[in-house]
Amino acid sequence: MKLNTQNTGIVIKNLTKKYGEYIAVDDISIKVNHGEIFGFLGPNGAGKTTTIKILAGLLKPDQGEIIINGHDIEKDPMKCKLTTGHIPDRPFIYEKLTGNEFLRFIASLYNISAKIFNKNVDYLLSLFDLLEWKDHLIESYSHGMRQKLIMTSVFMLETPTIIVDEPMVGLDPKSAKIVKELFKKHASNGGSIFLSTHSLEIAEELCDEIAIILNGKIRTIGNMDDLRKEAHLQSSDLEEVFLELTASEDLKDVIQVLKNKT
Ligand code: ATP
Repeated sequence: MKLNTQNTGIVIKNLTKKYGEYIAVDDISIKVNHGEIFGFLGPNGAGKTTTIKILAGLLKPDQGEIIINGHDIEKDPMKCKLTTGHIPDRPFIYEKLTGNEFLRFIASLYNISAKIFNKNVDYLLSLFDLLEWKDHLIESYSHGMRQKLIMTSVFMLETPTIIVDEPMVGLDPKSAKIVKELFKKHASNGGSIFLSTHSLEIAEELCDEIAIILNGKIRTIGNMDDLRKEAHLQSSDLEEVFLELTASEDLKDVIQVLKNKT
């Protein structure tokens, strides 16, 4: 399945967002090409969810420009939304609907054809072992099953761009593996993925480029080799690189204290 992509997936230029006087996102610029999985990492409170909410059209920026699949988010928010699937960190889901009713509701919001819906839904539900649950009320689903339903609702749309906040929380290893393979397939089909996660293993495995955000500013951006160079850690994994670039000196002291504690 080749995706209908236009230009670059996501362009963020000089984005700033304040809450009152507090600057949560401070003049960040990022480009995510089609065919790419882009990792957006940072400590708690760094500004990741704020950025994602702006990309998803849920928050307005104070400054900056955002272009999604060739559309300016300020001038053409609907085109941005219709070409972007969004997996939030805490999805809202109507529990009194069945899985199938929920998927039909999302499909109608995005105006996808019955042909695409029928082609994708049963295939995705069966990948996630949810097919026999599709006519059950969502209130009877476990946390992981809800998560898999949200994944299905996004992948069924075939939007060129997918924005994801913490995708693997609550997923069992088999489902997490399937999600990773779906992400890779989406990128190899020409789509783009903007992935925010605290799982450094997943980021290292999946992402072509990574930005680390710290106190609202981009601390560093590039591929794994660029990040290693920046951290002066030539053969380290992403966990060591990330901690070197973001953690304060006192983390080393805390680890030493824990090691010495009997
Ligand atoms: P986490 O990894 O903990 O989810 P994050 O990187 O997603 O963190 P954000 O949720 O974007 O961080 O928050 C960035 C900063 O903005 C934090 O200091 C947070 O307290 C603040 N913030 C977020 N939402 C609001 C809000 N609605 N009102 C005021 N401050 C907010």
